[in-house]
Amino acid sequence: MVAQEIKPSTQSLQLKITPDQAELLPLDPAVKTGTLENGFRYFIRKNIEPQKRATFYLAMKAGSILENEEELGLAHFLEHMAFNGTKNYPKNELINYLQTNGVRFGADLNAYTSFDETVYQLPIPTDNPEIVKNGIQILRDWSQNILLATEEINKERGVIMEEKRLGKGAGERMQSKYLPVLFNHSRYAERLPIGKENILLSFKPETIRQFYSKWYRPDLQALIVVGDIDVEEIEKLIIAKFSDLKNPKDAPERKEYSIPLNGSNQFISVTDKENTSTVIQVLMKHDAPDFKTTIDFRESLKKVLFNNLMSSRISEIRKQADPPFLQGGSSIGDFMAGLEVASVVASVKPGQLERGFKAVWTETERIKKFGFTQTELDRMKNTVLVYQESSFKEREKTHSNNYVNEYLALFLKGNASPGKEYEYNFYKNVLPGIMLEEVNALANKYFTESNRDILVMAPESQKDSLPDEQTVLTWIKEVTSTKILAYDDAVSDKPLMANEPIPGKVTSVKEIKSLGIKELTLSNGIKVVLKPTNFKNDEILFGSFSPGGNSLYSDAKYQSAVNAVPIIASSGLGQFNSKELPKVLSGKMVSISPYISERYEGINGSASHADLETAMKLVNLFFTEPRVDRNIFDGLITNYKSSLINRSNSPSSVFSDTVSAILGSYHVRRTGPSIEKANQISMPEAMDIYKDRFADASDFIFFFVGSFKVDSIQPFLEKYLGSLPSINRHEQWQDLGIRIPKGRFKKVVKKGSEDKATVQLVFSGDYKYREKENVHMDALEEILKIRLTERLREDEGGVYTPSASVSYSKNPSKYTISISFGCAPDNVDKLIAATLDEIEKLQKNGAKKEDLIKVVSESKRTRETRSKTNGFWLGYLSAQYQLHEDLDELFSYEKLLENISSGDIKKTSISYLSMKNFIQFILLPE
Ligand SMILES: [Zn+2]
Repeated sequence: MVAQEIKPSTQSLQLKITPDQAELLPLDPAVKTGTLENGFRYFIRKNIEPQKRATFYLAMKAGSILENEEELGLAHFLEHMAFNGTKNYPKNELINYLQTNGVRFGADLNAYTSFDETVYQLPIPTDNPEIVKNGIQILRDWSQNILLATEEINKERGVIMEEKRLGKGAGERMQSKYLPVLFNHSRYAERLPIGKENILLSFKPETIRQFYSKWYRPDLQALIVVGDIDVEEIEKLIIAKFSDLKNPKDAPERKEYSIPLNGSNQFISVTDKENTSTVIQVLMKHDAPDFKTTIDFRESLKKVLFNNLMSSRISEIRKQADPPFLQGGSSIGDFMAGLEVASVVASVKPGQLERGFKAVWTETERIKKFGFTQTELDRMKNTVLVYQESSFKEREKTHSNNYVNEYLALFLKGNASPGKEYEYNFYKNVLPGIMLEEVNALANKYFTESNRDILVMAPESQKDSLPDEQTVLTWIKEVTSTKILAYDDAVSDKPLMANEPIPGKVTSVKEIKSLGIKELTLSNGIKVVLKPTNFKNDEILFGSFSPGGNSLYSDAKYQSAVNAVPIIASSGLGQFNSKELPKVLSGKMVSISPYISERYEGINGSASHADLETAMKLVNLFFTEPRVDRNIFDGLITNYKSSLINRSNSPSSVFSDTVSAILGSYHVRRTGPSIEKANQISMPEAMDIYKDRFADASDFIFFFVGSFKVDSIQPFLEKYLGSLPSINRHEQWQDLGIRIPKGRFKKVVKKGSEDKATVQLVFSGDYKYREKENVHMDALEEILKIRLTERLREDEGGVYTPSASVSYSKNPSKYTISISFGCAPDNVDKLIAATLDEIEKLQKNGAKKEDLIKVVSESKRTRETRSKTNGFWLGYLSAQYQLHEDLDELFSYEKLLENISSGDIKKTSISYLSMKNFIQFILLPE
């Protein structure tokens, strides 16, 4: 029997752990693990979140680092081949089988290859033992029975080349220059998983077969299974299926490679004409410690505290009228190949590299000189503990994927996985004893002067003004020799709300039993829809809407309207400014975000049960006491403007701005951002609009979904929502009349230097908004994905991953279907023709039976899991209320899905994929 009850010994944890008392961290007793005679390892755990599902990982301690000069790119190529024919599932049968049983499959979505590992991921339904057995067979096939047929290899070359093409651009060009430096010119620098073009196009099939037999072998493999399964059963299956795996006779040694630290310092500056941002990064590399003992665990807690404290400091620096940087950071984290890294990074406004860099570096120096304060540390310990407690409360509702990833790290890196109960106890017992000096000491330990790389990245236009190594070193010296002041941790002890609100009352209650919801009306007119659930142990999600939005303001005020919330939400709240508010809220499990969209305004958020009242106070304050801060406003606008300066360098931004402008008929609200538009944002106007939007609570509907009882939540609703001001204004949003242009035309954008193209095809027109029609449209989207993947990827080998998306609206009754893909510029016409040919086939013959089975099965499986989440219910209820649609639609979904016929898809594609309104957008190199 496998222990379901987790009872680790907590006694040893009561002791204060000091470095001479290292103990090995235990393995979570809920995990069943073993090693077969051939070296194959397994990790199995029962977990019922989500129910009737399990995640299977087949992990390989083999990746691109093992490739010899003739094999560059073949570890990743091999991963693709796992989906193109195995002993028991030749050709595409594997994907067909899984899709037919409701498993969504996509390009690389279910596997990845990196330097040191390759991991195959198989999420499968477990309510049918047949599928579980076959799932294990698939993993067994991958471990040593991938067919690697010559014909299939040759077909896949095109797909891999397209995947490589998608990665091309400014980022990749700069990376090819600086990665060898960051990797200390080690073997890693020459082993990027995507590989080398000449090899991918011309390697002999025999070469990849050899790579397969050399490295896919039981002593480098493990199977991880977490889910709604019988552990004993699975173990039996694994023993039966994997014991006969053989290690090759003259198996080469699996060397552990590393990035050698030689104590030297390096500097590299790279520019590119398509790059849009200016960034300086200083990386200080260190050997990474193990994560095996109680001492290791304690060390990691110190880093957690350090990083969080540092991040609060840095985010405060941004809260000024002219912030020294756009983004900044200073932290200690994992690097790769057995290294960790302390990094200082600043993304800056053009021409302000020195200022931005010095600001972040000064903060690091400040810690070296003065450290953090005791009050900062105490607050952070409390915050960290609150999060740990919350994670502990949800331990039985933790998603299987989280566990799988823990065991993956255990297998690949030997990282201990003691289990949530042990971890929680460790935090509770050890965190309070971590002293301020210990956390502060990390600054000198990690932010060191050797093994330090300085990297500068900028647009080509700035090439002549960029610093050289000597200049950056001078900046560092200047910071160190400047008088730095200690940080003043100003904390307010005022209560969150200055005045207690006078509660309203619940005036009526309506119960909708079929959905388990209650609808309350408060005395000021607010409606509250409550759906208590037990999907999580301690999670309450809420949302709200009121009609109006920015549609009610003229185009001249649009910029202020659309930017009102970002400005106000960053300016503090009630009695607290933007620096005080995060401190007041530290340790609270609360998140809150007001919004003003085109047609609605509202406040969304989440809270733990204990912090629900705090959340409700914040909601109340966002109605009654919003703040706007001149410095925050100026800071946001300056940073926003400077982020636009180099926007036109980026081919993808230019393309997406063009697409959006044309689809919006060049309406000023749909064209891309500009300095001129940024200049139209007015602070008083933004505040007026915000206040106007939240002036009348009477037409708001709130939704609460999660782990609460109606009786316990009601007093908060009456007090903090029922007290909100109401003027019984009758408002409706305005239709701005922005429509996609009619007719057929083509827009070609020429931008960029790489040999790559992007295609987006847009179909649009009038729509009949009905539940049945919507279900058919959603199915059409999935059918299109299947057909286009088969045609453009598998048959033509011309696209890595085609996408299709369908959207429809009720008012106005319109739809859009968009198909897009990246490809070689020479293939654009051919691939558009192939796409249209697939559409024509759908219009003539309807959907293939096997495609329909896949779509219905996948959609059912997705809904089955989704409908057991709070997020699903919040979204569903808000949408149905907003559109005045039937709340019972939910119950007819499955029936409608099952009843879709090939003829329905035929009809839907004739109606909505007609070429009447058809726009082709094509991005080509200059
Ligand atoms: Zn790939």
